[in-house]
Amino acid sequence: EVVSSVYKEILVKLGLTEDRIETLEMKGGIIEDEFDGIRYVRFKDSAGKLRRGTVVIDEEYVIPGFPHIKRIINLRSGIRRIFKRGEFYVEEKVDGYNVRVVMYKGKMLGITRGGFICPFTTERIPDFVPQEFFKDNPNLILVGEMAGPESPYLVEGPPYVKEDIQFFLFDVQEIKTGRSLPVEERLKIAEEYGINHVEVFGKYTKDDVDELYQLIERLSKEGREGIIMKSPDMKKIVKYVTPYANINDIKIGARVFYELPPGYFTSRISRLAFYLAEKRIKGEEFERVAKELGSALLQPFVESIFDVEQEEDIHELFKVRVKRIETAYKMVTHFEKLGLKIEIVDIEEIKDGWRITFKRLYPDATNEIRELIGGKAF
Ligand code: ATP
Repeated sequence: EVVSSVYKEILVKLGLTEDRIETLEMKGGIIEDEFDGIRYVRFKDSAGKLRRGTVVIDEEYVIPGFPHIKRIINLRSGIRRIFKRGEFYVEEKVDGYNVRVVMYKGKMLGITRGGFICPFTTERIPDFVPQEFFKDNPNLILVGEMAGPESPYLVEGPPYVKEDIQFFLFDVQEIKTGRSLPVEERLKIAEEYGINHVEVFGKYTKDDVDELYQLIERLSKEGREGIIMKSPDMKKIVKYVTPYANINDIKIGARVFYELPPGYFTSRISRLAFYLAEKRIKGEEFERVAKELGSALLQPFVESIFDVEQEEDIHELFKVRVKRIETAYKMVTHFEKLGLKIEIVDIEEIKDGWRITFKRLYPDATNEIRELIGGKAF
């Protein structure tokens, strides 16, 4: 969609030049979209101070893109360097998808990292966030992770979400500026309004690396993704993921090997190498990790080849619950906008709504494997 002149005026007020806006529009860097009668512009690319994922509904409702969180690869030197002095909070990094929640004209909207108002998330968010919060704080954004086995975007969720999906708050920001509230204030809000929060493991300093090693070991054993470390004022934030998560991501990725950029695999392999080196892991334990990595990479990949041999398309299966059947159809349109190939497999009526089973198809991976099986030479 072309960006209408009303939005262009707003974008100029937000600091973009008309030239810049035109270039962005031509490259598809800004797109005007609509959800349930709400028009908005989303930023597919960053422009000036406006980050990728920024959503502009009107002059007041500018929801900044969620910033990138830097990663440390060596835990000890990483925390020494980032948190030279003072304490920092350590929270769980919950494995789901990022959601920014705002209230607009009395309706809560769930916005994805890419800047889409997501039909599924928007329908479900009132189950997890009380309206009162936004009545009291209309200028705030709740940022959290939606995670669980029934997510429309991810095949897996954290081990402790046994069914459906759950919201985990991890940031509260101001509309327009995107400034985060200090950790303590956020925790108070979660408590006061009864909003589910990511687990907080406590306050640490750079000298507590041994405790952090233990924490990482435990989380890894429990099949959890990792930690995010935050200074109390939210000015410094870094992440560190468990060896489990690195291997598990490889396992999930290997099924659709050809769909992913090579960097998806190499980055995770290098994180594992640095983990093994930092912890001086050798002997049996080393062998175990090495074997796990090998299997994670090869087993799903070989299975995919067998699947294609059996004339099956490579796909991932998703199950989600919706309250209204229209939400399922809106999701199909939403997936089309994302360029994904989706097929609804089953619709089943359940208490309070519907359970939708759908397939995400991977035609590129399927075709590549099919051709290679067929003897393609290159
Ligand atoms: P980027 O590298 O740009 O951050 P990404 O999608 O690769 O993007 P991840 O490596 O998954 O990012 O890590 C950052 C994401 O982790 C955040 O965008 C957020 O959705 C998620 N997350 C989960 N738990 C937390 C938490 N406690 N605090 C902050 N972010 C969290």
